[in-house]
Amino acid sequence: MNSLLLKGLHLVPMTEDAPAGGGDLASHILDASLRIQEGKIKDIGDLSPLPGEEVRSFGGLYAFPGFVQTHVHLCQTLFRGLAEDRPLLPWLREKIWPLEAEHSPKTLRQSTRIAVDELLRGGCTTFQSMETVWHTSAVFEELLDHPVRAILGNALMDDASVPGLPKGFARDSQDSLAECEQLIRSFHGREDRLFFAYNPRFVLSCTEGLLREVGQRAKAEGLRIHTHASEHPGEARAIRARYGKDNLALLRDLGLLGPRTTLAHCVQVGEEEEKILQDSGASVAHCPSTNLKLGSGIAPIVGFRKRGIRVGLGADGAPCNNRLDPLTECRQAALLAQFQAGPGALSAYEATRMLTIEGAASIGLDKVCGSLEPGKSADLVLMDLCGEELGKGDPFTRLVYSASREQIRHVLFRGEFVQL
Ligand SMILES: [Zn+2]
Repeated sequence: MNSLLLKGLHLVPMTEDAPAGGGDLASHILDASLRIQEGKIKDIGDLSPLPGEEVRSFGGLYAFPGFVQTHVHLCQTLFRGLAEDRPLLPWLREKIWPLEAEHSPKTLRQSTRIAVDELLRGGCTTFQSMETVWHTSAVFEELLDHPVRAILGNALMDDASVPGLPKGFARDSQDSLAECEQLIRSFHGREDRLFFAYNPRFVLSCTEGLLREVGQRAKAEGLRIHTHASEHPGEARAIRARYGKDNLALLRDLGLLGPRTTLAHCVQVGEEEEKILQDSGASVAHCPSTNLKLGSGIAPIVGFRKRGIRVGLGADGAPCNNRLDPLTECRQAALLAQFQAGPGALSAYEATRMLTIEGAASIGLDKVCGSLEPGKSADLVLMDLCGEELGKGDPFTRLVYSASREQIRHVLFRGEFVQL
């Protein structure tokens, strides 16, 4: 059996049972060795090498769990810099939908390759992605060649009355659902690291019938739902005008909200809707850079988290960010929370939780990844946080506010060193 012992690390386990608010931060760091067998963390502690075991020593690097992003679009990576200076709806209509409509399986594989390289260089080993309306099998196929864990699906859009749609981009709902069935058969659970989720793009791109059917299918099949919700004031107004109710109330009534649902953005969410979110158990994918760049606003995540709503982080697509870097989103989330709710409203420790265990929990993968503990996948980010330019604060402060991916020395996925 292959066995690898990592020594000389400051381990940052980020386990789910760590005290809320951080408590004594020093107690979250273990100067210990970590043993990897069969791609999983086998043991943590004062460990001596086993006969024949490979040993690697690191001079005091910090080891975090592989970072998690809960909302990206691999398919949009080729469009970086091509959709500037627009709010959400014109951004979609004038740029993103026409660009996505041009995709072929070949360009989707290329887009995926570039995205995954960037995600891994940023320490992100697990993510959830919404793809475009066709050829999503090409994205799954490409991901088979890369050391990542991913939840993804084809974007569902069947409302042809939406203005500005490229020809054929609103697909027949039964055709789209047939593609979902095929993706589930071919890829869901593949290598225990690729998973399918239903991805209705957002309420305004789907008919009520399709939304309802997605809710029913996801429930019957035990699959996840990943959608955009309440991102921009214009979107929220249009939904209210069409349905006579708020976005989240509508999603609830159509059977789309539950513990297996991720809602990207949730910027335009009032008190009543926060309650709906809380009652449903759905999680939020917070995409702070995108929300700023498209002028959508700031999601009230401090309030969400106080209610026990799980919040993960997402870079969203390359054209609305224009980075796919988890540390950028983590820093942005922390800064905005201080601005919105006052200094200390989101500590660096809490922001690190969103990047790791809380992110994993918010997409249903916390039994597999998101923390360093025996039995979990050996996904690690090894960082040098000792440079003078990073200051002398606790490691969470250094990670969130001072560090960038420049400090990443190694990334491991399932116990294998990733070529960065
Ligand atoms: Zn998005």
